[in-house]
Amino acid sequence: MANPIFTYNNANASCALCDRTKNPHPDYSHEPIVTTRLKLPRGHHELCINCYWDIATLAKTPQTDIGNILDEKLNIRRLLRKNSPATFGHQGRTDPSDE
Ligand SMILES: [Zn+2]
Repeated sequence: MANPIFTYNNANASCALCDRTKNPHPDYSHEPIVTTRLKLPRGHHELCINCYWDIATLAKTPQTDIGNILDEKLNIRRLLRKNSPATFGHQGRTDPSDE
């Protein structure tokens, strides 16, 4: 996959995975988050730089496609939302391979 293009200072930026809209870095908390757009079969998704690199780290092996990982994460996210809307939103990290 080609190097991602990150967008700075987009006031409407939001992350499809973590819902962040504000820059998490304390020095830049007054700025919008930095995002990149990924194209999936089902459309474009905007990811923050943190989530992007999280996924990019998982996609280190040639047979792992970054789009597949994102698609899977978005599916899990939809399921979590449907099943437990009240508890969703915690920044807990779950790694399926740790189970
Ligand atoms: Zn994010």
